[in-house]
Amino acid sequence: MELYSTNHQSPNVGVEEAVFRGLPPDNGLYMPTQIKKIPNSFWDNIQYLSFQDIAFEISNALLGDDIPTYDLRQIIESAIDFEAPVVEIEPNVYCLELFHGPSMAFKDFGARFMAALMSHFLQKSQKQIHILVATSGDTGGAVAQGFYKTPNIDVTILYPSGKVSDIQEKQLTTLGENVRALEINGTFDDCQKLVKQAFLDKELTDKFFLASANSINIARLIPQSFYYVNAYAQLKKKGVELPLVFSVPSGNFGNLSAGIIGKKMGMPVEKFIAATNLNNVVPEYLKTGVYKAINPSLSTISNAMDVGNPSNFPRMKALFDNDINEMRESLIGYFYDDEATKIAMKDVFGRTGYVMCPHTAVAYLGLKEYLLSQSKPTAGVFLSTAHYAKFLDITQETVGSQPVPERLSVLLSKEKQATPMKADFGDFKNYLMKTL
Ligand SMILES: *Cc1c(COP(=O)(O)O)cnc(C)c1O
Repeated sequence: MELYSTNHQSPNVGVEEAVFRGLPPDNGLYMPTQIKKIPNSFWDNIQYLSFQDIAFEISNALLGDDIPTYDLRQIIESAIDFEAPVVEIEPNVYCLELFHGPSMAFKDFGARFMAALMSHFLQKSQKQIHILVATSGDTGGAVAQGFYKTPNIDVTILYPSGKVSDIQEKQLTTLGENVRALEINGTFDDCQKLVKQAFLDKELTDKFFLASANSINIARLIPQSFYYVNAYAQLKKKGVELPLVFSVPSGNFGNLSAGIIGKKMGMPVEKFIAATNLNNVVPEYLKTGVYKAINPSLSTISNAMDVGNPSNFPRMKALFDNDINEMRESLIGYFYDDEATKIAMKDVFGRTGYVMCPHTAVAYLGLKEYLLSQSKPTAGVFLSTAHYAKFLDITQETVGSQPVPERLSVLLSKEKQATPMKADFGDFKNYLMKTL
């Protein structure tokens, strides 16, 4: 796979360089120079394939020239070791549950695949690398779990003190081994600034091989296309042959971009629905043709989507050859406020007993609005990006007390291990020099 920068001012690179660099030097985003269609025989017989088979075929189409078949199989087997089932909630309305991984959010797919891919490349070099990552919540848990005990890699996670939920904090601070947590007395932006400064510090970068794990890394994008295609396979297996739409609860739009990659590879999809909270930059862009960032972003109950300037937007544009009309053919946007989100959570729970997290509810709303606007029968899949128990306060407030899965409840009794730190680069650098 060859990758170019969406800013076109940096040289093309191979996948290994793109994964360890994260960002091209011109601050664009890495994108594959071509996304090949997978032959019809794959799509025709897809209902007979397992999730891992599907993941292998897709990754092989992208990375087959870079990674030997046997190794790629192993990467898939270690990274994609949990299911992403499609559950029927109402007639022709399906929920794609992406929360069965270790951190119970869809970011597990990206983090685990990235860890396995980096680990593969490091085997030959025997280098030790240090991942630095700032988190406002969900990313940190997925990265911590994804890289836990990965040979040749250690991880330092910076999070803002008092600004992540109890469960999220425990996900970052209770693993130990090669995962370290720094509790920063400041905001998420302070954490991000410290990480950025570290990457620019010559003394640190001369001494250590630093890498980032943030959401714009191409290694996090690729595996997210697997579950769309697997959802299509599951519907086919159930005998659902209707035109298919996916509704994606979106913040930085990595998840949705991955769905579009699946479509480019030949998955039959009629439409993607870009569902957002009041941070509605993309739905507004689709409607008006004007891209207007929201700064600062608005706080909502679907806080993992509180993004006022989606980082993957240049990628989405590139996938449609920077042509808004082409984008509009495949993509429609809707947005919802917190009130509507809570009403949807209550409504679905009341009618069906199914509990959705607020992000999932935004996707559900987008799907229903789209289906209502259509006269022909359509099968709709809305993506559930996190388990409701990760957002327990708002869940309890809207639908009453609900059981917490053991995977999360055991965390609450574990002891937090974090190093408290001021939001000061000198302190951060000293810490890295001493402990890496
Ligand atoms: C990260 C996240 C999102 C947003 O995904 P993007 O790929 O940034 O659009 C949605 N829901 C949850 C629960 C998340 O953690």
